[in-house]
Amino acid sequence: MKMQYCLYLNFHLSFCFFSLLTGIAGLFTVFSSFVFSTVVIHFFGKELTGLNEALPFFLLLIDLSKACALAKFALSSNSQEEVRENISHGMAILGPTFTLDALVECLVIGIGTMSGVPQLEIMCCFGCMSVLANYFVFMTFFPACVSLVLELSRESREGRPIWQLSHFARVLAEEEDNKPNPVTQRVKIIMSLGLALVHAHTRLAAENPGQNRTVEGPVAKGLEAGGTMWPLKLTSMDMEQVITLGLALLLAVKYVFFEQTETESSLSLKSPIISSPPTQNCRVAGDCCRRDLPAQRLQKTGNGISATSPTFAAVSDNILSSEADRAVREKELSQAPAVSVENSPHVSQLGDSPSPTPSVPQSGSNSEPRTLEECMAILSDPQRGPRFLSDAEVINLITSRNILNYKLEAVLETPERGVAIRRDMLSPKLPVPSALACLPYKDYDYSKVMGTCCENVIGYMPVPVGVAGPLLLDEKQFYIPMATTEGCLVASTNRGCRALSLSGGCRSGILADSMTRGPVVRLPSVCRAAEVKVWLETSEGFSLIKEVFDQTSRFARLEKLLVGLAGRNLYIRFQSQTGDAMGMNMLSKGTEQALHRLQQQFPDMEVLSVSGNYCTDKKSAAINWILGRGKSAVCEATIPAKVVREVLKSSTAALVELNINKNLVGSAMAGSIGGFNAHAANIVAAIYIACGQDPAQTVGSSNCITQMEPAGPNGEDLYISCTMPSIELGTVGGGTNLQPQQACLQMLGVQGTSPNQPGENARQLARIVCATVLAGELSLMAALAAGHLVKSHMTHNRSKTNLCETPS
Ligand code: NAP
Repeated sequence: MKMQYCLYLNFHLSFCFFSLLTGIAGLFTVFSSFVFSTVVIHFFGKELTGLNEALPFFLLLIDLSKACALAKFALSSNSQEEVRENISHGMAILGPTFTLDALVECLVIGIGTMSGVPQLEIMCCFGCMSVLANYFVFMTFFPACVSLVLELSRESREGRPIWQLSHFARVLAEEEDNKPNPVTQRVKIIMSLGLALVHAHTRLAAENPGQNRTVEGPVAKGLEAGGTMWPLKLTSMDMEQVITLGLALLLAVKYVFFEQTETESSLSLKSPIISSPPTQNCRVAGDCCRRDLPAQRLQKTGNGISATSPTFAAVSDNILSSEADRAVREKELSQAPAVSVENSPHVSQLGDSPSPTPSVPQSGSNSEPRTLEECMAILSDPQRGPRFLSDAEVINLITSRNILNYKLEAVLETPERGVAIRRDMLSPKLPVPSALACLPYKDYDYSKVMGTCCENVIGYMPVPVGVAGPLLLDEKQFYIPMATTEGCLVASTNRGCRALSLSGGCRSGILADSMTRGPVVRLPSVCRAAEVKVWLETSEGFSLIKEVFDQTSRFARLEKLLVGLAGRNLYIRFQSQTGDAMGMNMLSKGTEQALHRLQQQFPDMEVLSVSGNYCTDKKSAAINWILGRGKSAVCEATIPAKVVREVLKSSTAALVELNINKNLVGSAMAGSIGGFNAHAANIVAAIYIACGQDPAQTVGSSNCITQMEPAGPNGEDLYISCTMPSIELGTVGGGTNLQPQQACLQMLGVQGTSPNQPGENARQLARIVCATVLAGELSLMAALAAGHLVKSHMTHNRSKTNLCETPS
């Protein structure tokens, strides 16, 4: 509902701007036409009486269609910076057409100025002036005004112009198809030439009154004056006539010979290549490119989807930004019932074909993808590059393996285009081709993802982020970001934080800090394996290995080697601090170098794997629970009886008893390893997702034992502690490099490298995780003790949507 309202608001804003711009154009044109024409006619000393009746007709001469088209150019901009670029691009496209139109109109109306009827002559003169004023306003004032109005408009909070909306261009396009009709253009050229000749003849005739006249009237005069003497008269034309004729001829030449160039411009969108400067047209080039795509040619007709239709082509042919263009297509796809899409012969062809382009009917020969050789030449040409290729051509290069799919983001001019093309290729192969329509991919900084966080990207997953707190920890307040889709979780943790704050907060400690990597190596015999184990446990052996290991990082410092033996296999658990990084890559790098050194010492040693699961990473393992991994943290608090009663709605006795029977005995009965808690993983996962941690490390990081005891003089207060020996996290590296994740780390004041001591930020984050787990434990245990769990989940966690209904 909110989203619909926002969309409505956006549309409304956009239309307000559009109305504003066309309003400005209209007012300006009417006003200038009137003033300009009146001044000019007055200047020539002509009579203006009787014009008031004719004024409404002059309004008809004012053509706002070009002003609308220019406004579309401006409004299809995605940022304030693009406004001027798009206006100049629009002027380059619309200017010549408008010039021709103005000329034809002037020539047609100009005939009336030679009618011999005084009133008509003045009206026609006034009409010509109106057309000229309209022309000059459009060519000068209007673009300046549009630019000024849009640039003065404030940007929205998201950094987008408030008038910008991806669907806007489409709505405008549906409202009016601005594509110039070539037939009309040709008729205009012929007309302008003919009229120029008529004018020339008329002038010649007027200058030769001695000629015999059989027909009255200026046209007849001109025609007659032409007669057999016509070619001779041309030689005696004055300068004005020569200029008029020359101008008409020039325009004719321009339109005949340069029409092709113009139809190739992005207005007509027949060619994927843009002739205007590249900087301006990365986005527009995208528009042209993307219209070639098969999916875009799907047209929703009633409940189904049909192949290319003129309406949809017209929509595409208008000036759409790449976002608007793709949004239209995705909306069409998402609106179409899946069965219709699948049943469409056009779409099934796409699904079957690895390269969808050839099966698509193209709107014109110019839309046909070029050959692979041509495309490769364009791609490798530094002057042109991928932005000069249409999406269909890029897809062809991918299917022919000239571009590797996984390198799309790096090869194309923008990573986002790579992601968009990957989605386009994938969609037809999915059981529901419109599936990706609701997976966002735009406006994301993929440069931070590429080569670091994810491959074969098709978008990003928005997850709601809630906040719990303030959490009073070690006398400081923290607001905890939690990314989750589990209703009640944030609310419950928040209640725990409140109970802690009212109890004077909680205290935390870091017991150990070292990441581990446990490779497996093999020796020829058990005895030889034992020999290596002994050597590694000597101070000399350890020092040699440490020397190599420590050289691999500014932060990794080998602290310990734990060597386990199974037959002739040797498992060596390398243990090191990792500064503020979680440290898995760091440990792997150091371990690999150390193993090379070990091989020099024992050439018969074979490295089976740099990871032998002795680490242990992302799997439940007693070694982490017992020896610790990453940060080992502990946190405690004493909750007064009053707070237990009033905030947690429980009693110390009930909580202590439940903790013994559930978290201790219950987990022992289940044979749990490190699972002696109520829901530590809930809190760990939510903070990890929000703060860019490796979510799979929730497995080991959730190891926790929650203990509760009666406290205080009467034993009515509650003492609670959480011990978490293996919190694997960092504040640099991995997902912590992404901006939204960094924002969450900044909320906690631990983003990036710690300014004082390397590792302080990461250790502080581990304390926060442990304390938030404690808050979560308090609240959930209280809810369970009071029997509130099911009720609150039914209220806050059950979807209100009828899941049996087909989504609309
Ligand atoms: P990393 O980004 O690979 O390494 C940390 C980098 O940050 C290093 O280059 C380090 O410098 C530098 N750095 C700058 N300031 C630092 C500071 N204050 N403290 C520590 N390092 C600092 O991060 P990582 O934690 O080692 O690895 C995390 C990534 O590994 C995650 O993406 C995770 O998903 C992934 N992962 C890998 C494995 C695996 O088996 N390799 C397993 C699980 C997860 P130096 O070059 O001087 O060290």
